Amino acid sequence: MKNIFGITFDDLETYFINNGDKKFRATQIYEFLYKKRVFDLDKMNNIPNTTKDNLKYDFDFSFIKIIKKQVDTDVKKYLFELADGNRIESVLMFHDYGTSLCVSSQVGCNMGCKFCESGRLKKVRDLETYEMVEQILLIEAEIKKRIDSVVIMGIGEPLDNYDNVLDFIKIINDPKGIAIGARHITISTCGLIPKIEALANEDIQFNLAISLHAPNTQLRSKIMPINKAFDLNLLIKTVKDYIKKTNRRVTIEYVMLDKVNDNETNAMELASLLKGMNVYVNLIPYNETNHIEYKRASKDTIMKFYDTLKKQGINVTIRKEFGSNIDAACGQLRSKEV
Ligand code: SF4
Repeated sequence: MKNIFGITFDDLETYFINNGDKKFRATQIYEFLYKKRVFDLDKMNNIPNTTKDNLKYDFDFSFIKIIKKQVDTDVKKYLFELADGNRIESVLMFHDYGTSLCVSSQVGCNMGCKFCESGRLKKVRDLETYEMVEQILLIEAEIKKRIDSVVIMGIGEPLDNYDNVLDFIKIINDPKGIAIGARHITISTCGLIPKIEALANEDIQFNLAISLHAPNTQLRSKIMPINKAFDLNLLIKTVKDYIKKTNRRVTIEYVMLDKVNDNETNAMELASLLKGMNVYVNLIPYNETNHIEYKRASKDTIMKFYDTLKKQGINVTIRKEFGSNIDAACGQLRSKEV
C-alpha cells in the first residue's frame, strides 16, 4: 500500500480520475495535508465518506517516528525510526536567513567515500519518497516553523535513489504541496554521471552540488571509489554540459583534509579544472570522527587555499560549521547510532 505522503499531485489527480471521483479532490487532499496540516482523514470535513473510504483502503497515512533529538548552537539533529526499524538522521540548521534541513535519502550508503562516517554503514535500502517528505513534516511540526531550504546531503547518495528523490522534490517544490522554492532545494551527488545527464533533462528546478573533494583523478580515486567508475575528467565534462543545458550555476563541494588535498598545488589544479565554469566552490572544514584517520586541515591552510582560488578568479566560500559537538556536521551522521 502506498503512503499518502509519497504521492505527487499529478499522480493523486490520476488516482481520483481512475476511481471515477472528481479531479479536484487532489487539490482538497493536498490542501489538508500540506497547507492545513490535517493528517487524519476523519478530520477532513468537506471530503465525502466514499472518497475517504477509498483513500483509507488504498493509502497508508502512517508516519516515521522521531526517537531522539540533540541540540547545539543553531542546530538540531533528529534521529528517526522507520516502520521496518531502520534508522536515519536529519539535521536542521538555523541561519540568519532562515532554516535549512539536510535530509537523508538512503539507509546507509554504498559510495564508500573514505572520509565519510555516514557511508560506513553499507546501503540497506533506498528511502521511500514519503520517508523523505515526513522528515520535513515532522520537524516543521516540532519547531512550529516552516523550513526554508532543503539540501539532500544527509545519509545516502540521492542519485542512487533517483525516482524517489525526484518525486520528493516534486512534492516539496509544488506550490500546492510543501511549497519550498526551487532555488532553495539542493541535490548533492558524488558524481553518478548518467544520473546527472538525466537530471539535465528533467522539467523541475533545483540546485545541483557535486562532491568533488579532489582536483585530479588519482587523488579522487584514492578518497572516493566512485571515481573509478565515473572519472573526474568525464565528470567535469558532464557538469559543463549540464550547465550549458540548464543555464544553472553548480556548487562544487570540497572537503579540506589535512595533507591530503589541501596544498597549494591542489588549489591551483582545482582552479585550472574549474576555470571558466559557472560554479562556486564550497570549502568544507573536515569534521573528524573516531573511526576515520583523516584530520581537518588547519584554519591557515584553508584560508590559503581559499585565497589561491580567489586569485585565480574562482567563486569560493568557506562553509560555516554547524553541529560538530553533536556529530551533526557534514559527513558525521549516524556516527554514534549505528
Ligand atoms: S559522502 Fe555522501 S556519497 Fe560519499 S559515502 Fe558519504 S553519504 Fe555516501
